[in-house]
Amino acid sequence: MNIQVGRILLASGLALFAAAPFTPASAQKSMSVDLVVVGAGGSGVSAARQAQMSGVKNVVLIEKQPAIGGTANFCEGMFAAESSLQSQVGIVVTREHAFRTIMEYSHWKANPRLVRAFIDKSAESIEWMKQNGVAFKYVAATTPGAPMTWHVFDGLCKKAVNTLAARFTENGGKILTKTPGKSLINEKGTVLGVTAEQDGAPLEIRAKAVIIATGGYANSKELMTKYTDYPDTIPIGNIGKDGDGIKMAWAAGAAKEGMGVLQTYRPGLPKYLANSHLMAAARQPYLWIDHNGFRFTDETIQSNWPFAGNALVKSGGTAISIFDADTRKFLETNGIEQPMGEYLHSGSKLMKFEEELQKEIATGNNKAFVANSLAELAQKIGVNPAVLEETITQNNTFAEQRADGQFFKSPKFLRPVKTPPFYAVKLHPTMLGTLGGVRVNEKLQAVGENGMPIPGLYVVGNDAGGMYGDTYDLLMSGSTMGFAVNSGRIAGENAAKYIGAAK
Ligand SMILES: Cc1cc2nc3c(=O)[nH]c(=O)nc-3n(C[C@H](O)[C@H](O)[C@H](O)COP(=O)(O)OP(=O)(O)OC[C@H]3O[C@@H](n4cnc5c(N)ncnc54)[C@H](O)[C@@H]3O)c2cc1C
Repeated sequence: MNIQVGRILLASGLALFAAAPFTPASAQKSMSVDLVVVGAGGSGVSAARQAQMSGVKNVVLIEKQPAIGGTANFCEGMFAAESSLQSQVGIVVTREHAFRTIMEYSHWKANPRLVRAFIDKSAESIEWMKQNGVAFKYVAATTPGAPMTWHVFDGLCKKAVNTLAARFTENGGKILTKTPGKSLINEKGTVLGVTAEQDGAPLEIRAKAVIIATGGYANSKELMTKYTDYPDTIPIGNIGKDGDGIKMAWAAGAAKEGMGVLQTYRPGLPKYLANSHLMAAARQPYLWIDHNGFRFTDETIQSNWPFAGNALVKSGGTAISIFDADTRKFLETNGIEQPMGEYLHSGSKLMKFEEELQKEIATGNNKAFVANSLAELAQKIGVNPAVLEETITQNNTFAEQRADGQFFKSPKFLRPVKTPPFYAVKLHPTMLGTLGGVRVNEKLQAVGENGMPIPGLYVVGNDAGGMYGDTYDLLMSGSTMGFAVNSGRIAGENAAKYIGAAK
């Protein structure tokens, strides 16, 4: 192992050795490496493995949680354009098309040089994954009509990340879990390592360069309140995402970019994952009303989660999904019409709906309801009964006429609400993470307000800004894990050059 775990230093500068008795709690361990990567999720593991493959000998990857993977433990596939897998099955998505789509969707608020670097690397990253023992299952799109850019991993992203991490450690890399990075060692404007914490004691990791990959700020009340339109947006699959890396980079002089952009997901409730039958029923694009009882969107918007998130926030943050006994029976016998990613395919029968519904009602959280009349339902969900009745009468007319006279929803999803019992589930904005924080250039170097790179500092994945305008882009399926992997790899290669290790 190439890591040099150094002496334990007292604050006074006296040196003791690890085995020495009476070591005070404040004792500081130190180590000296070539490169430290902070955060062992999708981007951090990719960065560490790439740096190693690019010739950096002593790479240490530190992780706050007891296990690696971060949000990537939940994801399914990554973006690529012009990949070998696409061409094998006749899918054509050119880099030019991907570039124009991303830039136009963002109204050219995204960073074009960064976007171009990401797209250009993406096909090669599929080969790089394969070279590292990672397999893919198929290529698809996450939203209807989008180009097929979502390269779904065999064993999903969790297996991919663990496979990369195994290659990294087999080749001499070191992963330290339960080791949160705390601050950057910044000497005269050059970043020379990280201070971290291990077992409550400070750990100083001196390095020639640092890559920050801490996955954003989805769990930071402070940053969510300061920078986002709906601070109570429910984070899915995120824990301990306190914006640590973003704050560390800002403190070192990096500029802000992309704060407030969320990876909004389908409206939902806390603690429910995409495989929940209760959520799948409520998320079908049938009839959604706002907290006042008015319909506020073409419900099929839910298949384009970023749009659904925007519409929901604009309407006050609560969507009440309403359906009747006939629809419930349809979902149990025919199955869902709107799939939930890889978790529940189209046609999945919601046999656990009743069990999950009763459990949710029993929590007393007032999020799921069943009633024998519309008046009773209105009272339970706290909506004016006359408004609810008018909305439902209108919905039933649209269903009968097979035409949505309000928001032009596809008639396929117009279902009447007329057979009791009636069901309602309250849904709120959710997200898979935050997307942005630190301004970077196309080499993934953190840059200051003057646009100049901060020597020794790279920021990747969800901590980096510049990939999006004001809204997450689902047109390029798999773009966030794709960005994690590609930004990580680009940073790893450039850090290797900076350190002077590049092969
Ligand atoms: C249910 C779900 C499904 C998804 N599906 C897809 C998909 O199919 N395709 C796609 O493109 N994206 C998908 N995503 C999003 C994707 O997982 C993320 O975009 C990606 O994981 C981001 O990578 P990251 O490295 O920035 O963050 P993460 O993968 O979250 O990694 C960050 C790591 O940093 C650690 N960390 C935080 N603070 C510190 C600290 N101070 N010190 C040390 N470590 C720290 C965290 O614990 C974590 O391990 C999905 C997300 C969810 C929740």
